[in-house]
Amino acid sequence: MRFGRVIPCGPMTAKLLDGNALARQVRTEVARRVQALADAGRRPGLAVVLVGDHPASAVYVRHKVKDCEEVGIASRLDRLPADTPQTTLLERIAQLNADPAVHGILVQLPLPDQIDEHAVIAAIAPHKDADGFHVSNVGLLATGNPRFRPCTPYGVMKLLELAGTRLDGAEAVVIGRSNIVGKPQALMLLAAGATVTVCHSRTRDLAAHTRRADVLVAAVGRVGLVTADMVKPGATVIDVGMNRDASGRLCGDVDFASVSSVAGAITPVPGGVGPMTRAMLLVNTVEAAERG
Ligand code: NAP
Repeated sequence: MRFGRVIPCGPMTAKLLDGNALARQVRTEVARRVQALADAGRRPGLAVVLVGDHPASAVYVRHKVKDCEEVGIASRLDRLPADTPQTTLLERIAQLNADPAVHGILVQLPLPDQIDEHAVIAAIAPHKDADGFHVSNVGLLATGNPRFRPCTPYGVMKLLELAGTRLDGAEAVVIGRSNIVGKPQALMLLAAGATVTVCHSRTRDLAAHTRRADVLVAAVGRVGLVTADMVKPGATVIDVGMNRDASGRLCGDVDFASVSSVAGAITPVPGGVGPMTRAMLLVNTVEAAERG
């Protein structure tokens, strides 16, 4: 006979934060702003560059192009072969930087090994950096004067707004310290008045931190990392993780079944942060076009 670990798994009591519905609202608002620009004779444009044929990246860029079409943003997809030299990619970026019809530029990551990701991000004109990864945009975010906010943590902030979670004075814990999610997330929560703890793979006693959190953002990439016993009752839990479980199903970092009976509000995977990440790229692009 096998005895499994006992996981508290009562009825779901948490408010479900529906990222698909919120993303639809965001897209409707973006479409309105795109129309206003079009009425003034300006059409926002996003250039997406994909190097190689990484299957997940190919799906992401297809989604991004489709989202643009839906809201009236002109999009162009540049597909370069996997063995593209760095100089060729940098030349392409220079052309897009100089093109007045292009307001946002996004180079899909990861890039093949022969290309230095930092050099590529640095080559994008900061005022067209729709992902918000350029050091000057990171610096503006860090100093409280953001120009572009990275899409995933920006989407998380919108989900927290939907949850009605008070951030001013709240304890916020972010698990993950990557440049694209964890670090900018911490900066945005800090700017909103939260007391922020950033945890990572070297953190001693992760649960001791997470149990204090009024707001818990998990951005690791590990199935079932956050369990119910790690969550403060009533906390807002945002699951950024995108993983496949043993049966190949898409799931996050949070054990949804158990945590949803402890948390006050929770995002599902899929249908939480993912659609909001896509929607916030459209917001960044229209904002870039509005700035001219
Ligand atoms: P990443 O660059 O791999 O960073 C993962 C972070 O998790 C690192 O800071 C790492 O710590 C930390 N970590 C690893 N194991 C840990 C553990 N056992 N306990 C605590 N922290 C641990 O990943 P990322 O790009 O930030 O993405 C994170 C997850 O979000 C992935 O699943 C990714 O697919 C997903 N994601 C989703 C979206 C979306 O739109 N939904 C967007 C972006 C990313 P160290 O720094 O010490 O290594």
